[in-house]
Amino acid sequence: MGSASSSAYVPKIIYLEKDNVSRKVMFSRHCRPSDIKELLCTTVGFTRDTLIMLMDQDDAIISIDPTMPSNTPRIFKVNDLKTEISSRLAALEKRVELEGLKVVEIEKCKNDLKILKDELSLGNRSNTPCKHTFMEDPIKLTPQRDVPKYPKYTLSQETIEALKKPTFDVWHWEYNEMLSCLEYMYHDLGLVEEFNMNPIILKRWLLSIQENYRNNPFHNFRHCFCVTQMMYGMIHLCELQERLTPIDLVILMTGAICHDLDHPGYNNAYQINARTELAVRYNDISPLENHHCAVAFQILSQPECNIFANVDPDVFKQIRQGIITLILATDMARHGEILDSFKPKVDTFDFLNEEHKMSLKMLLIKCCDISNEVRPTEVADPWVDCLLEEYFTQSDREKSEGLPVAPFMDRDKVTKPTAQIGFIKFVLIPTFETLMKLFPQIEEATVQPLRDSRDRYEELKQIDDAMNELRKKTENIPLGWKKN
Ligand code: 5GP
Ligand code: MN
Repeated sequence: MGSASSSAYVPKIIYLEKDNVSRKVMFSRHCRPSDIKELLCTTVGFTRDTLIMLMDQDDAIISIDPTMPSNTPRIFKVNDLKTEISSRLAALEKRVELEGLKVVEIEKCKNDLKILKDELSLGNRSNTPCKHTFMEDPIKLTPQRDVPKYPKYTLSQETIEALKKPTFDVWHWEYNEMLSCLEYMYHDLGLVEEFNMNPIILKRWLLSIQENYRNNPFHNFRHCFCVTQMMYGMIHLCELQERLTPIDLVILMTGAICHDLDHPGYNNAYQINARTELAVRYNDISPLENHHCAVAFQILSQPECNIFANVDPDVFKQIRQGIITLILATDMARHGEILDSFKPKVDTFDFLNEEHKMSLKMLLIKCCDISNEVRPTEVADPWVDCLLEEYFTQSDREKSEGLPVAPFMDRDKVTKPTAQIGFIKFVLIPTFETLMKLFPQIEEATVQPLRDSRDRYEELKQIDDAMNELRKKTENIPLGWKKN
């Protein structure tokens, strides 16, 4: 082993004093300042998000971060910001009262108050969730709860059969049931056996995945489940177990599960225009997809969640490269490019050619990602409401922040039929028809439902248009007429 004594690996210890009680706190030098702040808060009995101030014995303020000075045997005092400031203000007032209003004192008071005010705003900045930050909800690398030691959710034979089809009712299940379904898919596809996955780690990894999806209207854990279940369905429909390797299959399934991890509910255009932390970090290049992927591998880097712990390093390298390529391919800005690169390969498609296979896998994850309209009307329909709710929340915010608003997200311009007709005609059908060239058998289960949905939305639009026409006409009728 290298240097166990290397200071980078030794936890940091500091001593805190609150209400005359001293406490020892230990943390890793790799912790984020916000984590250390939370740790200090809970150590002295404050709630996690209390604004606090740390002072040394001379009342100098200590910045809370991993590089903060160790203080043995001196002790840092900790106080919540409000209490600290009001007690300092009281002390100042007392001094002014006792010592009289000398000009020099007033100036000093003003100066002290300014320092306190700056501290307060500094405290606010680091404690209040910043509107642009993607760390609003810290990433939960290991799940908050552990897996049950007994099989809690046993899937019925009926569910197992239904799970393989695009007609599966994705709204019927609660989180734990979806987790059991995902777990079942990994066992059923032989991935647990092939990659020697520890079944408990698989459960824990899935829990951590679920916890790292946010409760957005659309980009939530149920969307992750839909995309993965559709992938599982496509694997069966296209008989991919016979044509692809287990490495390809694990890339497809894991890519699908991880593809929208920690999605903040605001798209790349927003990230870039609002110059969020994510856009800055990834130089405006697919900021969200880069983030989903980074979170995926942060979770896998925790030994208790690493489903690939028993895989050879060179195989892991291939799996990692495949998952990265797939998640990055889900950026719709690259839609045309990915479709165009697949098309010329179809006629001479070779399942032994790695480049051909990667192009196919990219197309597959894209198809699954946008596949809600492939599902039966009653399953697909609520997803449009979810998507529009997320779009409208974004466009309202863009309007209030003076940022550009995309017309397809604008509540004054979009309706369910107008949102869907264009997307089905110009994105969905051409994408699935491209895949259909390689797998003609998908027509009945995927392309036909898309055509039906397009026709249904066109009818709905005609009704909407007729209603609007009628409304316009009646608006022109003088009021007296309408009454009669
Ligand atoms: P995702 O953000 O889920 O990774 O990428 C898929 C994107 O395709 C969504 O953000 C959304 O913009 C678009 N999309 C997916 N499904 C639909 C749909 O049913 N209707 C419309 N209009 N857009 C969709
Ligand atoms: Mn998605």
